[in-house]
Amino acid sequence: MKNISLAIDGPASSGKSTVAKILAKEFKFIYTDTGAMYRSLTYLAITHNVKFNDEAGLVELIKQFPISFKQSEQGQLVFVEKKDVTQAIRQPEVTNAVSEVAAHAKVRKEMVTLQQKIAEKGGVVMDGRDIGTAVLPNAEVKIFLVASVKERAERRYKENLEKGISTDFETLQKEIQQRDHIDSTRAASPLTQAKDAIRIDTTGMSIEEVVSAIHQVIKDKGYS
Ligand code: C5P
Repeated sequence: MKNISLAIDGPASSGKSTVAKILAKEFKFIYTDTGAMYRSLTYLAITHNVKFNDEAGLVELIKQFPISFKQSEQGQLVFVEKKDVTQAIRQPEVTNAVSEVAAHAKVRKEMVTLQQKIAEKGGVVMDGRDIGTAVLPNAEVKIFLVASVKERAERRYKENLEKGISTDFETLQKEIQQRDHIDSTRAASPLTQAKDAIRIDTTGMSIEEVVSAIHQVIKDKGYS
């Protein structure tokens, strides 16, 4: 496998991180969950009483408290202030505020710089909303994953159940739509498909099928 960058974008719960993790492991690439970075910042804002509309305060938090990833037996762990926040950043309190935090242009500028640094040597699978358009515009392979709102809500519902988080299905569906709306309509690098990205509608597809479809894209482009 060549030392390429693989950008995987798409709306909430479209399966990005699941397939990105599988591919990174297989190719021995670095996996970067950029959503976890915006979630960690939201968590920091909550714990340090910084308002979600305080752009300068949020930028200060990014500079003061570096976010780091660690590989472990249980998968990738996320740390801020030496604390493992892997579970905390998935709680509804963070999920429902993260899009507001991620909408600030100056917050995005800081995050994009950090993400570009992680990817500078290639050999990376990065997932998010703006990887193919803003973070890695020259990525060799760009994938845009989509799925129906109903199916994405079902996936999130099952994931939450496994994590012991109880949620109402209708509420989940509304929250996903709300997050899609904020992420796609914000002024600063909104969620949008890069012109050279390959769109895969994963509705009704298994994880294995999505992974195999991405393998095919990599092969067709001559990188495998
Ligand atoms: O991928 P995940 O659902 O964990 O992302 C959480 C939120 O972080 C998204 O809804 C979006 O508001 C923001 N995000 C972003 N740009 C990225 C990744 C995530 O704005 N590259």
